[in-house]
Amino acid sequence: RAKAEGRDGHRFFTEDMDESVKTRRAIEHDLRRAIATRRELMVHYQPRMNAGGSRVIGLEALVRWHHPERGLLAPDAFIPIAEETGLIRELGAWVLRDACAVARAWPSLSIAVNLSPVQFRARGIAAELIEIVRHAGARPQQIELEVTESILLDDDEGVRDALAALRHAGFRIALDDFGTGYSSLGYLSKFEVDKIKIDQSFTRRLGESADAAAIIQAVVRLGQAMGLAVSAEGVETREQRAFLEHAGCNELQGFLFSAAVPPGALAALLGGRVEAAA
Ligand code: C2E
Ligand code: MG
Ligand code: MG
Ligand code: MG
Repeated sequence: RAKAEGRDGHRFFTEDMDESVKTRRAIEHDLRRAIATRRELMVHYQPRMNAGGSRVIGLEALVRWHHPERGLLAPDAFIPIAEETGLIRELGAWVLRDACAVARAWPSLSIAVNLSPVQFRARGIAAELIEIVRHAGARPQQIELEVTESILLDDDEGVRDALAALRHAGFRIALDDFGTGYSSLGYLSKFEVDKIKIDQSFTRRLGESADAAAIIQAVVRLGQAMGLAVSAEGVETREQRAFLEHAGCNELQGFLFSAAVPPGALAALLGGRVEAAA
């Protein structure tokens, strides 16, 4: 078919492009509506466990979209579009508000919220986040902001000041997906962070790759030496859990414990293990 449409398949390629551009436009249009009506977007919460015990010490907010025709969409299907269109700012604010409500309902838990680099680079981001939490009647001390290494790449004074302001206000800062970006150890001393989250790709390769094990052990030691908490993501097996606990991780997260659940399922999941607000 491609042959019939052009010697070099040029036209074929263009049709594919048109299709994906159309899909993106449609998703952008629907996302605008979803953010405005707030009926299709939902935040699910995944437990974060203390290593060496079975205690839920916190949750991570993970956004979901129940699209009327496309079904349940994972963030990877729409966060990039939200970032390109600037919709991420409103979406991010909405997720944070949802997380604040959960923080108020579960005062002993820390709630982690993912921040997009795009969101983070916006001027006045620190003041905006502080105001959202204040207005929601939550405590910044209960909120952990997850950022990726890419925001540190710029070595931007604005980013540094925003992180410092957020920490000063009481938020904790975690470096998400650690080890997948342009990791530079220089970041860790230049920017104020509280925690590193070892990316799930390393956890997944445990048992297959001696390198993955060595990298995890080195990152844990680095974190310990710098006074940072270390968390591991993507824990699916008891073997992975045992390795990570033995390596000295402070916190674990993964399907072995639970996937992210809707807020309505939290009470049943947490049961009597965690104190709820009266
Ligand atoms: P992340 O922050 O690194 O979140 C961890 C992802 O791994 C989540 O996928 C989670 O459901 C998944 N996961 C957790 N445990 C396991 C496990 O044991 N095995 C496997 N295979 N996966 C596990 P999800 O919810 O699809 O989110 C993907 C990414 O989308 C997140 O990665 C985060 O970067 C982004 N994201 C999610 N919610 C938001 C949001 O509200 N704002 C922004 N800016 N980004 C978000
Ligand atoms: Mg995260
Ligand atoms: Mg991650
Ligand atoms: Mg990720």
